[in-house]
Amino acid sequence: MSDVLKYDENCLFCKIIRGDIPSAKVYEDDLCYAFRDINPQAPTHILVVPKVHMRSVAEVNRHNEALVGHIFTVIAKIAAAEGLEGGYRVISNCGPDACQSVPHLHFHILGGTKLGERMG
Ligand code: AMP
Ligand code: ZN
Repeated sequence: MSDVLKYDENCLFCKIIRGDIPSAKVYEDDLCYAFRDINPQAPTHILVVPKVHMRSVAEVNRHNEALVGHIFTVIAKIAAAEGLEGGYRVISNCGPDACQSVPHLHFHILGGTKLGERMG
């Protein structure tokens, strides 16, 4: 996690993390930031992002894997705080075939209703 301050000035989510673009913040710590998706696909739809700029899951490696583990701890905390007792889905779109639209690693938390069985 040595590159924790890495920032991409052209990246929407880097601007959100910095507060240059407003967002509905749900959670923040030294390593990650969570906010409500602007176009929710479920009653609860939250994005959790690392503060360091990395493009997608494809850039996860042994040097930054602890950060991803931390994000999953945060996801569980947020889901509990949001009252998602019935369950929830965590999705990370990676690359064009998955229709990733913002190239800054993010995990969608979707819940608050019974979700569809299809995922792709
Ligand atoms: P993906 O398609 O997996 O890259 O997800 C990107 C997500 O970012 C989409 O669900 C968008 O609705 C969401 N999004 C785009 N711009 C904003 C924004 N300014 N604030 C909150 N969510 C956003
Ligand atoms: Zn970024």
